Formats: sequence, structure tokens, C-alpha cells
Amino acid sequence: MATIGFIGLGNMGAPMAANLLQAGHRVTGYDVVASARSALAQKGGHAAASAPEAAGAGDIVITMLPAGPQVRQVYLGPDGVIARAGRDALLIDCSTIDVETARAVSASAAETSLQMLDAPVSGGVIGAEAGSLTFMVGGEAAAFARAEPILRAMGKTIVHAGPAGNGQTAKICNNMILGASMIAVCEGFALAEKLGLPVQTLFDICSKSTSQCWAMTGYCPVPGPVPAAPSNRDYAPGFTAANMLKDLRLAQQAAGATAAATPLGAAAANLYQLFVDSGAGGLDFSAIMRFLRRESPP
Ligand code: NAD
Repeated sequence: MATIGFIGLGNMGAPMAANLLQAGHRVTGYDVVASARSALAQKGGHAAASAPEAAGAGDIVITMLPAGPQVRQVYLGPDGVIARAGRDALLIDCSTIDVETARAVSASAAETSLQMLDAPVSGGVIGAEAGSLTFMVGGEAAAFARAEPILRAMGKTIVHAGPAGNGQTAKICNNMILGASMIAVCEGFALAEKLGLPVQTLFDICSKSTSQCWAMTGYCPVPGPVPAAPSNRDYAPGFTAANMLKDLRLAQQAAGATAAATPLGAAAANLYQLFVDSGAGGLDFSAIMRFLRRESPP
């Protein structure tokens, strides 16, 4: 069993750390929020008094932080994870961040001969609690082989995507495709509604036709056809519109930096921006159906 330092015990990090404890690993965790630290202690983990203490406590250091700036802050500098981790430690950042920061922090770790992986996830809080996350992992093959048994305690599908930054690349491309396809599904259902075609009839046809996709058949944005979808519980998340906007922005940042043509990704980012600005950031991202139906903000 491994000793693990875990920094960032929020909506995702707390259940991920709980699953590591459940699997028999020793976890020393830190979060700037005191209640998150005591919740870990109640589950059998050790609450560190600082991020450097958690960084120095494990053979493995895992981080699950909001965004790139927090990852730079936690990893770099004299009190950062890279300076404070043990010399043989493996560093795994599971946050969703920009590709540039992922590659820069990984390069800093390599300068001190530390192995580092970017390993963002999909599956949301439900997947984190169930231990069924998908990990998209960038970094060296030897580091991936070392990480895989640890990640198995938190996820079902663990994919090595190639060198540093490729995990983040896979994540933002996946979510750009998802954001654009969700909007397309919503538009189809909104148009059918105007034309008098019942929701279930459109679903029955499209789910077996060429427009079939996960946004429709796994997560239908209109109540009825997919009972487990957030549309059936007034769009309680799930995956929030604010998080979708964050990922669409990261995709646009990467597209700008590489001169990649992503006109639909740009349109999706703009629509989610308007939707979030209307006060809907805390709703599930499939609630953009309401926006396209021109329903008043929640
Ligand atoms: P969250 O805000 O609930 O958790 C982040 C935690 O990091 C918070 O508890 C915060 O206090 C802590 N933190 C911030 N700065 C810190 C610092 N300097 N030192 C120590 N702790 C610090 O966010 P979340 O929903 O858990 O998401 C975490 C990451 O996972 C994000 O990058 C997000 O985009 C990604 N993600 C989230 C979901 C989801 O459904 N929530 C799904 C997939 C990926």
C-alpha cells in the first residue's frame, strides 16, 4: 500500500481521497478550507497543517485543484510540491488546467528528476464517489505504470495519452466536442418542439439514426427519454454549466495558441458564457436547453 499526499479536498478531491483510504492507502491531505481537512480525518486520513507537509508525506502526491494558477502556486516556489516532495516521489495532477501550465509544471518537476503526470478526469462527482472516473494521463510511460494501480482505486478507465500535457489535451478536446454536441442536441429538440413533433418520438428516431450521440442518449437535455439525466431533476448538476464554460475557454485558449480552427468550439464557448452570465452557472450544463427555448433565467 502507498503513502499518499493529497492536496485539494473539494467536491472531487474529497471522494477521491476517500476511495484511496478505502483501498487501504495511507493518505495525508491538505486543503485551504479547514472543514475539508477535518472531513478527511474523520474518514481515517491524516489532516496536514500545510500543503508542504502533505507534499512531503507521500511516495505519491496527488493534487485536485480548481485551475492553472492554483496548480502553479501549489507546485512551484520554495514551499511548493516540487521542492518539498521526497526525491523519489511521483506527482500526479488531476485538476483540469491549461495545457501550457501542465507542460511547464511537468518540466519543472523533470528539472529536479521528479516524475510527474497530468491526469485530468471525466465522470464528475458521481464518478469520483463511485470510483468510476476516467483518467486521461500525460507523461512518461514508466511514471504511468507506477501510477496506474493507484489511479485504479479511483477510476475504471485509465488511459495513457502520451507525453506531458496530452492528458489535458484529451480532456479539453473531449469537453469541447461534448459542449458543441449538447448545444446541437438542444437545438434539434427545440426545433422539433416548435414544429409539433413530440420529444419521445424525436428521441426514438434520432437515438437510432445518424445524429445519435452521448449528449442525447446518455444525458438527454429534455425531461423524459433518459430518466437518470439531470433534465429530470430540474437540471441539478451533474456537471455544471460553469465547469463546462471553464473547459470550453481552455479549449479556445489552446486553439488560439496553436491556430487550430474551432468555430463551433468558439460558438459553444460564447453561448455558455451568455448562459452562465444569465445566472445559470450552477445548473447542469444540459440546462442550456432552457436558454435555447428562451425560458427566463432561473
Ligand atoms: P472544488 O472547488 O470543489 O475543489 C477544489 C479544492 O481545492 C477546494 O476545496 C479548494 O479549497 C482547494 N484549494 C484551492 N486552492 C488551494 C491551495 N492553494 N491549496 C490547497 N487547496 C486549495 O472543485 P472540484 O469540483 O473538486 O474540481 C477540481 C478540479 O476537477 C477542477 O480543475 C475541475 O475543473 C475538475 N473537474 C471537476 C468536475 C466536477 O464535476 N466537479 C469534473 C471533472 C473535472
